[in-house]
Amino acid sequence: MRELSISLSQVKGRVVWPSDPDFDEIRRPFLGGWDRSPAVIVRVADAADVAIVLAAARTTGLPLAVRSGGHSLHCLVDDGIVLDLHDLRAVDIDVANRTAWAGPGATAAEYTAAAEAHGLMTGFGDTGSVGLGGLVTGGGLGYLIRAFGLTVDDLLAAEIVTADGRHLLVDAEHHPDLFWGIRGGGGNFGVVTRLKLRLHKLSAVYGGLLVLPATAELLADYMRLSLEAPEELSSILNVMPAPPMPMVPEELWGQMVAMAMLVYVGGPEDGEKAVAPFRALAEPLMDMVAPMPYSAVYMMEDPDYHPMALSRTTFLDEFDADKAEQILARLRMPTSAMPACQLRALGGAMARVPADATAFAHRDRAFLATAAVVYLDAAEEETHKAWAVEFGTMMRGWSGGGSYVNFLYDDEMDRIHEAYPPATWERLVRIKQQYDPENLFRGNANIPPK
Ligand SMILES: Cc1cc2nc3c(=O)[nH]c(=O)nc-3n(C[C@H](O)[C@H](O)[C@H](O)COP(=O)(O)OP(=O)(O)OC[C@H]3O[C@@H](n4cnc5c(N)ncnc54)[C@H](O)[C@@H]3O)c2cc1C
Repeated sequence: MRELSISLSQVKGRVVWPSDPDFDEIRRPFLGGWDRSPAVIVRVADAADVAIVLAAARTTGLPLAVRSGGHSLHCLVDDGIVLDLHDLRAVDIDVANRTAWAGPGATAAEYTAAAEAHGLMTGFGDTGSVGLGGLVTGGGLGYLIRAFGLTVDDLLAAEIVTADGRHLLVDAEHHPDLFWGIRGGGGNFGVVTRLKLRLHKLSAVYGGLLVLPATAELLADYMRLSLEAPEELSSILNVMPAPPMPMVPEELWGQMVAMAMLVYVGGPEDGEKAVAPFRALAEPLMDMVAPMPYSAVYMMEDPDYHPMALSRTTFLDEFDADKAEQILARLRMPTSAMPACQLRALGGAMARVPADATAFAHRDRAFLATAAVVYLDAAEEETHKAWAVEFGTMMRGWSGGGSYVNFLYDDEMDRIHEAYPPATWERLVRIKQQYDPENLFRGNANIPPK
């Protein structure tokens, strides 16, 4: 510990030890029911601090976790060093050039609020509290995916500290291989300290929640329509028993529903036209689709909400009423009161980017499907896990699988190869070998060097 303390003595940010009163608060990850006890957490103040922490990890040999928003299961490590980028959260908007430089510790909601003030936007995921560091380096799939592509498709440059402590600017001209690797390869190649992102002109959208009865035919029609819809329209559909939330009428609580959040990038007239076929699928149980600021996709989150959750995700190429019926059958036999199947239609701008342009390569897949369960009692984990694994395995069997690195649970790292086709994998391994031959960055969905 003395050696560790000495090697961190030059850090300008905050070195937080287990004996510090706020250690537990700083350590707490987003997901509940899961914990690790690091030897130290270092809240870095700049890239020089990052280099000091990496040197400390190298010299002490302690395991390292890199953390931005703390939403993954890799953000803590037992008896090791947590390099925490929470304080690197500045978002600088360049209105004239429609670009932003953002710190990885900024959340999707913080960035969105800063950009929206200028009528500009970059797409992230479906949850405002997710950190940019993890989301962007893994890919970034959200409500603007069909209109503008993945978040990495808007990544123009990044500053990164590599395992040997070098602070590099990477973009299409500088270290292009490394720039390619961090657009989908996750945290394998270094610690990103700043991200330069493209901004799109966008503030208001036509969107909101549409709740429909969940029948197999309706789900199949919904997913077909989602692919046929104009590219300006993206949505995320959660099939689940209606949650007992104040915004949901009490008579719906527990009823199996198709809960869609729709986002149309454009004016209300065109938006209404695009949404009409979805509204016509059945008498909506709730219809809150209307003109709204884009930032409204990120609902208010309770900072004290730390759900225990498990999930299994796969890409799908086809969807029909038979598959929908099998999904509904699983949801009708839940192990918890909060089971869900999340379905996302892809395509559009995301699919127009060549598969080898970024490390995220699943450009031609039609759908992303996730079996998920939220539960309250940690002792029941094995039961819920068995349910989620069987559900996920069933859906994987429909399409030969394929995974998204940001949706891989830490107990399914054997599926890392499914995140990358062979040619992508080989290129990632070569880049890893060049920039992190000792595999210092291994506390992640790991791509080992040769
Ligand atoms: C409720 C919820 C909703 C989600 N919704 C979506 C969604 O709609 N779309 C989507 O694409 N993803 C979504 N995700 C997945 C999310 O993108 C990943 O969990 C992501 O890794 C979280 O990033 P983070 O910085 O918050 O997490 P952290 O746990 O802090 O980081 C995750 C990992 O990313 C790497 N990393 C983090 N910061 C850096 C950095 N600065 N430099 C290099 N590597 C870094 C590290 O390997 C780290 O272990 C969701 C997750 C949750 C929990």
